[in-house]
Amino acid sequence: MYIGIDWGGTKMEVIGLAGDGRELCRHRIATPREDYRGSVRAVCGLVAYARQATGRDGSVGIGLPGSPNPLTGLIRNSNAWWLNGQPLGRDLEEALGQPVRIANDGNCLAVSEAIDGAGAGAHIVHGIILGTGHGSGIAIDGKSHNGHQGLAGEIGHYSLPWPKEGDYPGPRCWCGRQGCLEMFCSGTGFELDYRMAAGVERKAAEIIDLKRAGDPGAEATYRRYVDRLARSLALIIDIIDPDVFVLGGGMSNIDELYDDLPRLLRERTNLFAGQDKLVFSDSVETPIRKAKHGDSSGVRGAAFLWREADGVR
Ligand SMILES: [Zn+2]
Repeated sequence: MYIGIDWGGTKMEVIGLAGDGRELCRHRIATPREDYRGSVRAVCGLVAYARQATGRDGSVGIGLPGSPNPLTGLIRNSNAWWLNGQPLGRDLEEALGQPVRIANDGNCLAVSEAIDGAGAGAHIVHGIILGTGHGSGIAIDGKSHNGHQGLAGEIGHYSLPWPKEGDYPGPRCWCGRQGCLEMFCSGTGFELDYRMAAGVERKAAEIIDLKRAGDPGAEATYRRYVDRLARSLALIIDIIDPDVFVLGGGMSNIDELYDDLPRLLRERTNLFAGQDKLVFSDSVETPIRKAKHGDSSGVRGAAFLWREADGVR
């Protein structure tokens, strides 16, 4: 069995998958916050639950915001800040008595969708989370591609490229910088843009309802969002040129994105785009798809971090 754990901001979920991807068990608990030792105990409890519920042993994969530094094994870049600087992998391996694989949640999304989701069969899948944060990661032939620093595809804290008026210096980010893509392209960034423009606080879903009802302020926030997200995708295409983008997280449920993003990229990627040019080409046809496994992609991808060890891609 493959045991996967998705380490969310509010919920921690465990799943047990059979070798053919069949779900054997699933369970959720509240994420212990600001408590590293409690977090380690919670993971061990979820693994014990999966073993007990199925009567099977299993490999353990974990997807979380941030990632372990491959040189030191210490967690960094996590907005679950109490994990940063901690030897989470070593502590879990000691507590569980078995090897553990840990990957960024964006990589887990990419792996899940590359194996049997919206990116199935594609060579390079770039998974992008548009939720509370803006995580992203790469799967190559169904395997998490981590890179030399373990940072490959982690674009959320790069500056918004090709800034326009109003984009610079941008909102301050939790990482200490200003104007990170996360502050524009996450659901949080979308809500922040609306609040700054309209002076009223609303949830992303409400803003989208207003946009659909013809509200000009909500429409303007949505237009700015799509434009900024298109710039983020264009940057990724210029560097990695993935075979498909798969979007996850709450904002990926906005159906309009799947018409507007490809159109904007196409319109602004041609020989005559001039100052507005996005991808450095004369055409762009990269498919942009919604995650097939929705909210379950993270936990499935975490479980599948061990899949290639069995020779199954
Ligand atoms: Zn940042």
